[in-house]
Amino acid sequence: MDEKEDLNYPSYAFIALARRGMEKISLDQCFLKNCDNEDPKLLEPFKKEVVKDEKKTVEKIHIKCKKCNRIFILKFETINYVAKSTKDKEEKPLSIGLIYALDENEKNLGHIGYF
Ligand SMILES: [Zn+2]
Repeated sequence: MDEKEDLNYPSYAFIALARRGMEKISLDQCFLKNCDNEDPKLLEPFKKEVVKDEKKTVEKIHIKCKKCNRIFILKFETINYVAKSTKDKEEKPLSIGLIYALDENEKNLGHIGYF
């Protein structure tokens, strides 16, 4: 198993804008306060945690920022559910992906967007 490969995460999140659809924002940036690092070379993912249950999958990527020398966590939460329709015989599984930024102590820094 390639440990490095396993630490991959999406480079972009999508945020919903009221009237202009969706906007793409880069996840190659440090989400900690007072840090403006947007250089992916200074961001080092080093640990991944995955927690699954029947309703959702949560993946946490721990990332070290080499600019402010702190650690933050990107949390990817995929919520799975089945949309039931009486008209269609098919049940289409739907999933929604939410991204949050957490600090080193897993304190929520806010909802970033969708993936
Ligand atoms: Zn930083």
